[in-house]
Amino acid sequence: MKRALITGGAGFLGSHLCDRLLSDGYEVIAMDNLLTGSMSNLEHLLGRDHFRFVKQDVTEFLHVPGRLDLILHFASPASPVDYQELPIQTLKVGALGTHKTLGLAREKGSVFVLASTSEVYGDPLEHPQREEYWGNVNPVGPRGVYDEAKRFAEAMVMAYHRYHGIPTRIARIFNTYGPRMRLNDGRALPAFMSQALRGEPITVFGDGRQTRSFCYVSDLVDGIVRLAHSDTSDPVNIGNPTETTILEFARTVLEVTGSRSEIVYRPLPVDDPKTRRPDITRARELLGWEPVVDLVSGLRKSLPYFEERVHG
Ligand code: UDP
Repeated sequence: MKRALITGGAGFLGSHLCDRLLSDGYEVIAMDNLLTGSMSNLEHLLGRDHFRFVKQDVTEFLHVPGRLDLILHFASPASPVDYQELPIQTLKVGALGTHKTLGLAREKGSVFVLASTSEVYGDPLEHPQREEYWGNVNPVGPRGVYDEAKRFAEAMVMAYHRYHGIPTRIARIFNTYGPRMRLNDGRALPAFMSQALRGEPITVFGDGRQTRSFCYVSDLVDGIVRLAHSDTSDPVNIGNPTETTILEFARTVLEVTGSRSEIVYRPLPVDDPKTRRPDITRARELLGWEPVVDLVSGLRKSLPYFEERVHG
């Protein structure tokens, strides 16, 4: 039986990855310090065979007994609100946490997958974003703590790959949504869903003409697993290339929830990227992967979770 360690295992993506690897026949160790992750994401797995949870901060020395075939480093605050509230923890987990988990991969001879981000492209001057694009990041702006931590993490991963010959993978993850997102994490989807379901105004930031490309979580997880099993050490964009303005996105949420909430406009946060859309040619060619869940279907699949959270 193969063994995997998932850091950030109690988070939104980490917990879905735990589910997927368990059903793929892995023994899974989920590690999390529960700073932004939540045990409620893992409750259904506790006590199950081949699953273990370890509460640990991955910026400190890591000891995991036994073999590890795969390490997925998914620990980090990941929403703009979270990483601006936790700037030092965000920098530490991207830098020190990546170093510690790479050290563990070296010790165990594991395949290592870094959860990187479309934020490495910053407020991009190229559109759509290809992996060759180096990005347009403001290191001292409010998003700098996350963007630079992930850019440093990528550099560290490549150093371990080149210098120690570790089989590493870099997933540049674009906006992803689905069940288990925290209602109050400040991101567009949980905000719009909870506002729509409560009949409160939908808060669109700026004029809503900024774009994002939203990927449903099951597609994302499938891309990550395929990447882990590939032999690609170069970064690979994993995201849905269907682009929408945030205003259209808000309207789609209203439609799917059947809500009559009004749309209100709020100031655009500093350094909010104006456009974002992955070029997924590399993922298509190297992984044979592309998303299959369209936005309306993904929002419908997500709805019961948000209804339960909002109305209990
Ligand atoms: N956004 C918004 N209203 C909200 C939350 C977010 O209009 O209540 C906008 C935000 O300014 C950004 C987009 O939605 O342009 C996506 O934001 P999110 O926080 O989900 O992630 P980002 O892609 O900015 O990292």
